[in-house]
Amino acid sequence: MEDVLTKATAEGVRIYALCTTNLVREATQKHGCSHLASAALGRAMNGALLLAATMKDGERISVRFKGDGPLGEVVADAEGNSVRGYVENPDAFLPLKADGKLDVGGGIGAGNIIVTRYLQNAEPFTGYCELADGEIASDLTKYLYVSEQTPSSVALGVLVDKDGTVTASGGFFIQAMPGCSEEVLAKLEENVSLTPYVTQLLEIGYTPEKIIEILGRGLDVDIKETIPVQFKCRCSREKILAALGNLDHASLDELAHDEVTEAHCQFCNTTYTFTQAEIQGLLNKE
Ligand code: ZN
Repeated sequence: MEDVLTKATAEGVRIYALCTTNLVREATQKHGCSHLASAALGRAMNGALLLAATMKDGERISVRFKGDGPLGEVVADAEGNSVRGYVENPDAFLPLKADGKLDVGGGIGAGNIIVTRYLQNAEPFTGYCELADGEIASDLTKYLYVSEQTPSSVALGVLVDKDGTVTASGGFFIQAMPGCSEEVLAKLEENVSLTPYVTQLLEIGYTPEKIIEILGRGLDVDIKETIPVQFKCRCSREKILAALGNLDHASLDELAHDEVTEAHCQFCNTTYTFTQAEIQGLLNKE
């Protein structure tokens, strides 16, 4: 199935759903993620994409899960239909929970969720709150309610097979718009409680559009659009070289003594190498 995000409305409510199996598999392979880290990173990336879909063109959102668990910090950053992210300790491991599920909550531990929205023509806005349980979807739901006063329902899922390959990934996001009736919200709550896990639906071939129809059954659902989504980092050799050029003179001078300078992008696990001549060039430009 293609990686896509579908947007819909239903009687004063936004319902978004997405399938990201391929892009999450790509990201977890790039980062060499363990089963546990794959689930955490995938869920965080799904959440970031769903929230970015509610924002305007050119706006960006970054979500950080900063807990005291073995995974360390989990970060996802989305803009439009593109997402990137990383896990501080991608090889972290924990035993499965009693129900056989990966223990993402234990992997993240106790701490905070920090969300920054980069808006157009405005200062970036950062909010945070204490993590609900480190399971990512519940943390995002709590954050949206506590910090942004927007009641919503977030479900995120990543299925990882025995070999560590991501076999299904996706999620959905439901948010009431101003003026939405209590009856509609009650109906949606009932529908959500009767809906299987999103990964189960994706596994049997349900598209995000079909998932929205299930979530919105009994309501007047209006499918707005379906867009492709992808793993994409914003880094480039040029941008990293430009960033090196912003270092103070002493640091740059020190680098200019090395034959090769390496710079690493944490978001896509890419290492860029620069020659002595390139660093000298930056010094000469000062
Ligand atoms: Zn990068």
